Amino acid sequence: MDSSDLREMARRDFLKWIGPAGIVAGAGLCSCWGCRTTPITHRRQLLLIPESQEKEMGVAAYQEVKQKNVLSTNAQHKEVVERVGQRLAAASGRTDYQWEFTVIDDKTQNAFCLPGGKVAFYEGILPICQNEAGVAVVMSHEISHALARHGGERMSQQMEVQGAGKILQLIARKEAPDKEQVFLSVYNVGAEYGLVLPYSRKHETEADEMGIHLMAQAGYDPNEAPKFWERFAASHHGKTPTEFLSTHPSDDRRAAALRQLLPQALREYEASPNNYGVGAPLV
Ligand SMILES: [Zn+2]
Repeated sequence: MDSSDLREMARRDFLKWIGPAGIVAGAGLCSCWGCRTTPITHRRQLLLIPESQEKEMGVAAYQEVKQKNVLSTNAQHKEVVERVGQRLAAASGRTDYQWEFTVIDDKTQNAFCLPGGKVAFYEGILPICQNEAGVAVVMSHEISHALARHGGERMSQQMEVQGAGKILQLIARKEAPDKEQVFLSVYNVGAEYGLVLPYSRKHETEADEMGIHLMAQAGYDPNEAPKFWERFAASHHGKTPTEFLSTHPSDDRRAAALRQLLPQALREYEASPNNYGVGAPLV
């Protein structure tokens, strides 16, 4: 099945999911209509789902991911991912998130962060990370998708097409059978579901930009961000696997774009109370 089939399947699933929704829960609607801008990049965005609902779904979906996958027993990997995660979490200022960091025993080169701070790392990406700062590059990118509510924005765009009136109620429909799956698909937790909706170029670029600032503020050397993407590009010779790994922009181009952001990110790194450099190597 190629990616356009997957996309079509995801689209159909999404429509099936939102189709039967009934009553309008209009009250909360205007309070979340387009009233938000993204952190750091300050882009206005359309969000039809309250963040509290996104977080609730994030928690449920994360539970499911943990149950359906084999969790890593590699003590070093778990320790590094946890340490980097806690530092990025602190730098994000999101004390309302219940942060959690899990390493999955799987060769997939992927990682994700669900709303509410639920992070998963697949073992397969760690050799390319090489060190703590490399983990910070990937994780800050993923966390940025969640902080900027890119999944919620994608769901909102779909919902707008379908008619916003049906939406809030369907989110509340706990019995909707495909809800978790569709939710996971908009956060690109697709590997185990065969369902991936690639983020748009705009979201990828934005997550890169937010991510390099976040890692620098957390005390990791931002020079590692373009270097990671160069290593990543070299590791699969133009063949792109899943998620951030998804379609665009090309790895080389994102490395170049990140280099342009370096001067500002380096100033933030130097101003950070902690300077960890690239941190410990991964073995
Ligand atoms: Zn991404």
